[in-house]
Amino acid sequence: NNIVVAIDGYSSCGKSTLAKALAKKLHFIYVDSGAMYRAVTLYFIRNNVDLQNNEQIATALKNIHLNFHSRDYQTHITLNDEDVSDEIRQMHVADKVSPVSAIHDVRVAMVKQQQRLGKSKNIVMDGRDIGTVVFPHAQVKFFMTADPKVRAERRYNELLPTNPNITLEEVFDNLAHRDYQDTTRKESPLTRAEDAIILDNTDLSQEEQLLFALSHIEP
Ligand code: C5P
Repeated sequence: NNIVVAIDGYSSCGKSTLAKALAKKLHFIYVDSGAMYRAVTLYFIRNNVDLQNNEQIATALKNIHLNFHSRDYQTHITLNDEDVSDEIRQMHVADKVSPVSAIHDVRVAMVKQQQRLGKSKNIVMDGRDIGTVVFPHAQVKFFMTADPKVRAERRYNELLPTNPNITLEEVFDNLAHRDYQDTTRKESPLTRAEDAIILDNTDLSQEEQLLFALSHIEP
């Protein structure tokens, strides 16, 4: 049987960094589920989809085709054959992604695709509901947390080169707001699966996190 490693946690906790490192080490496929919600959000923004209008949402979801292209364990995602990997990281998408991913039909469509990706291959998938909803029977589950200030600083430093006008405060507020929305929404709120191993990486290097995670995976 194929192996699934599920990584959930708050925004900008280093989930994807750890997931990529694990996938590389174990020769698993890395799937960034957040990129899928971000790509859907980008499509909704571009096409002015009204989040209150179920019909518009259903039509949009039918017209959205997402694909992952794995290169060096980086996420390359296409939205209807256009590579949107960079654009989905921008703040205008980050500001809208939580309300979009709170929509029932959006989640149903994404979960279905995610489950398909994990059906026959060994994967590491990160997100908010991977260990609870997408793969409740995943062999290994991690739940990541870190000090909110440390998280905001890390994300700020990542965004700064391409967003010279961005402020630390803006990034901090976006993370806090997304965490609030992700943990309080009705549909699959962000919560730790009972059997998930907690990993607080506030004071851990990337190497230390990788070793910690591997110690729970390798026999
Ligand atoms: O992981 P990332 O920060 O890119 O995810 C962006 C947003 O997508 C999250 O804030 C959350 O609202 C949503 N998301 C989700 N379920 C997932 C992954 C992401 O609701 N499995």
